[in-house]
Amino acid sequence: MSNPIEYLKGVGPLRADMLKKELQIFTFEDLLYYFPFKHIDKTKISPIAAVVPSMDFVQVRGRLISMEVIGEKRSRRLVAYLRDGSGMIELTWFQGINWVQKILHVGIDYVAFGRVSFFLGKPQLSHPEIETLKESNESGKSFLEPIYSVTEKLKARGLNGKAIGKLLYQLFLVLEEKEIPENLPAFIIQQDKLSSKWLALQQIHFPQNQQQYESAVRRLKFEELFLSQLRWSMMRAARHRFMKGILFSKVGSTFNNFFHQYLPFPLTNAQKRVLKEIRQDMGSGTQMNRLLQGDVGSGKTIVALMTMLIAIDNGYQSCIMAPTEILANQHFDQFSSLLSSLDIEVALLTGSTKAAERKAILKKLQEGEIKILVGTHALIEDVVQFKSLGLAVVDEQHKFGVAQRAKLWKKNIIPPHMLVMTATPIPRTLAMTAYGDLDYSAIDELPPGRTPVTTVHRLDDARPQVMDFIKSEIVKGRQIYFIFPLIEESEKLQYEDLMRGYENVKAWFPEPQYWISMVHGRMPADQKEINMQRFVKGETHIMVSTTVIEVGVNVPNATVMIIESSEKFGLSQLHQLRGRVGRGSEKSYCILLTANNIGKDAKERISIMCKSTDGFKIAEKDLELRGPGDIQGTRQSGALNFRLADIAQDREILEKAKKIADQLLISDPDLNHPAHASLKHHLQSENSGTVWGKIS
Ligand code: ADP
Ligand code: MG
Repeated sequence: MSNPIEYLKGVGPLRADMLKKELQIFTFEDLLYYFPFKHIDKTKISPIAAVVPSMDFVQVRGRLISMEVIGEKRSRRLVAYLRDGSGMIELTWFQGINWVQKILHVGIDYVAFGRVSFFLGKPQLSHPEIETLKESNESGKSFLEPIYSVTEKLKARGLNGKAIGKLLYQLFLVLEEKEIPENLPAFIIQQDKLSSKWLALQQIHFPQNQQQYESAVRRLKFEELFLSQLRWSMMRAARHRFMKGILFSKVGSTFNNFFHQYLPFPLTNAQKRVLKEIRQDMGSGTQMNRLLQGDVGSGKTIVALMTMLIAIDNGYQSCIMAPTEILANQHFDQFSSLLSSLDIEVALLTGSTKAAERKAILKKLQEGEIKILVGTHALIEDVVQFKSLGLAVVDEQHKFGVAQRAKLWKKNIIPPHMLVMTATPIPRTLAMTAYGDLDYSAIDELPPGRTPVTTVHRLDDARPQVMDFIKSEIVKGRQIYFIFPLIEESEKLQYEDLMRGYENVKAWFPEPQYWISMVHGRMPADQKEINMQRFVKGETHIMVSTTVIEVGVNVPNATVMIIESSEKFGLSQLHQLRGRVGRGSEKSYCILLTANNIGKDAKERISIMCKSTDGFKIAEKDLELRGPGDIQGTRQSGALNFRLADIAQDREILEKAKKIADQLLISDPDLNHPAHASLKHHLQSENSGTVWGKIS
């Protein structure tokens, strides 16, 4: 398998060079794993008259009735016509003209195959694969012929999709089954009726029918997902087994006191479940590393707070890091008021904390007097030292990098428990593959009594009616958000757009009848804060903003969210923005304004937003529409680079693979059982075997 590709019959040094350069095929193994992108049923011959543009690849049979070279220099080409009983098709060659002229003969019957294109309504095949009827019958193609994608450069040198197929055919002539040992345990193969690895690799290239192809693909996808889940599970298991954590042995009076006397509402079942999961982690003696997902407004903050109370009960301090000052302030206010009757010192540390106050805070932290520290990334700085940090919470974790999380780990000798929270719902499948090293909890239920936000799509033309509606809401005492898109290519443009938008809104809502706040990324922090606070306090009616408002801000009295040029936003971001309204008891609205003409994808996004308020559903859709690479909040992770598997589509296989991987490790964490020997061998021999290195 590791033989250099030039050892294969039919591959000389020249071809080997091209295969390496163009397709990164260096070895037999690389070739074996170069899968076809489709198969053509070569037993099917289309009547020429039935060839239509939607057909893509076609195979036709007929007599060659003419052949001539036309054009000069660069437009020089060989044009031939093939005719069957139903019609005529043009065959064209731009290269290898002399050679083709030599082997083809007018008056003889041929079978031609290629990608069909249409010119002036007439079908053509350029550079078709062509054989005489006799050759075609002799090669006796009763199976589906694989088609491989190749580059133009390769095609020009005669290494087309078909030639790659021939190389694979050669490869299978020399390969033996023992060179491709089964790596999955027999019981999994049996239980799920999977093809063997050897068979799957043969049949993904050369299946005899569609069904064989499909089971080959299923087997190979399963293998990919299973091995990736197994690696993650082993990493988690290793952390649980070897990574010492602070033992929070009890839930004590602080927690219970708060729970029974000061908790302002009953917890939802989802919140209770998550608290239980956290409790279990922290009581296990190993470090907790948990990702907590919950839609906007699902109540993650109170879960974080109660987790911190458990830390206090066990004699430890906690901290919570938020991505913006606005958000940190908000958490601080909320915690202070919720804990006002309990004797717990909470402090706020941000970039704007004055030097004297900062000094006092740092001192009290070291002495252990401050039990809960709320802050921005100011709190990961080295000067911030705790007496005993037992728990670190990261809010809206997608705004932070792994490095920042790692800094929190170092704030105690035994690393503190970590709870990372995100309101960007990541589809479960994506979380499983991109954040597989974290344990995972989800609050999948909103607190009761929320009326869902009504979302509508309005065209620019309807602006006057929209403005009238806004006025009627302001008359009722409500507040309004106007969001303008972030135009990434140009910060300047974004600013100008926002200013124009602001002037426009002002023209509709003049002072002194209406007051407007504005917040944007270029504004100094203190000014941002002032504007924000005016809106929070209800001194202004309208907030005009870019997406800086996106994260976490809580103004329950705001009931209308207008999103300008909403076709320019992604689904997850629209959902995040919409989460700013519907936080109070009043009925709320989200109005998606768009240009009169928008593209198909944008239309679909808008329509999904109008139909659904379920963040997880929206995230699944987002994943489907955009693919995993682009989803906000995911780390660009090698874990997502699957050869075949597609986590948006293969969710079912993924779930199964994870379940089996987890079960297997519970029964045999070191893979010492003889039945798992092949698997262990496979993992050990992987050159990316860093995981194994870590745990063995
Ligand atoms: P998020 O998950 O987006 O951070 P928050 O924690 O800010 O959501 O909660 C949103 C609002 O819901 C807050 O005003 C909070 O007090 C309230 N809330 C949280 N849990 C409950 C509950 N179980 N019942 C009623 N209200 C709740
Ligand atoms: Mg929050």
